[in-house]
Amino acid sequence: MTSAEPQPPHKLAALLGPAEPEIGCAECFAVVDRYVELELRGDGADREVAGMRAHLAGCPACADEYLSLRELVARER
Ligand SMILES: [Zn+2]
Repeated sequence: MTSAEPQPPHKLAALLGPAEPEIGCAECFAVVDRYVELELRGDGADREVAGMRAHLAGCPACADEYLSLRELVARER
């Protein structure tokens, strides 16, 4: 059950620095399932959904949503 430990988004953002585009909550909500899907496939989620990681780093509500969704999807495979 602990096989897919989610990595805290703020850590990734700190590695990349602040010069990233950032999306808003509405857009984040619209693409979060696709983002999780791409990420779990190792298919360039941050390239496909630019600005997502930056938003997750700065928005606890969306980060929470993202983490639960990711956990859910990871458990289904
Ligand atoms: Zn948000």
